[in-house]
Amino acid sequence: MLYKTNQYYEYLELFKKDDCPVCLIMDEWLDNFLEEFLYECVNDRSMRRRIMETGGFCPKHAKAMMGKGDPLGHSIIYTVLIDDYVKKPDAKKKDGCLVCDLEIDAERRSLNAFLNFFGESEEFSNAFRDTKTCICRPHLKKMKKLTKNKELIKKLSDVQNDNLLHAKACLDEIIRKHDYHYTSEQLTDEERLAWQRAVKLMSGVLK
Ligand SMILES: [Zn+2]
Ligand SMILES: [Zn+2]
Repeated sequence: MLYKTNQYYEYLELFKKDDCPVCLIMDEWLDNFLEEFLYECVNDRSMRRRIMETGGFCPKHAKAMMGKGDPLGHSIIYTVLIDDYVKKPDAKKKDGCLVCDLEIDAERRSLNAFLNFFGESEEFSNAFRDTKTCICRPHLKKMKKLTKNKELIKKLSDVQNDNLLHAKACLDEIIRKHDYHYTSEQLTDEERLAWQRAVKLMSGVLK
């Protein structure tokens, strides 16, 4: 059953970009979450309790939050964390952080939505094929774990492989045009960025 949510149209827009659309959605999710968290949730007691359970944030999310600025928001959170740490420096804390937990949930929802759209809508799967979009390696691995629908995975993997071979063909062109026989041939715009795209697709990082 297909219900075209906002995320359906968001994915179609992101297919026009070069990066993994799930990575782009998660990047935006984190950005929005951190901003909202710092400006609205710092005084939320239940959130504060959850931060205390892990004794703070993991390095990735602490760094991303610091990048948002906001001295007041940080001061409110970190006075509580430092107080707790000074009183009980050896207290056993949970691994990860609050943002890790929420990020995993948001990612699972986005991956499931993608699989549903891809399986149910030809408009969606054709757009994925025609824009030569690729899902990064880590996100494709997670998608495969989320569904037992072998037919769907085969259909997605086939299109993905074709699109990845297109990405690889751009790398072949970079190599060919570096040969002194062909140095008069200019790289196209797509080829110029292809090496960075390949790194991101194979490792799943955006920044
Ligand atoms: Zn990705
Ligand atoms: Zn984290």
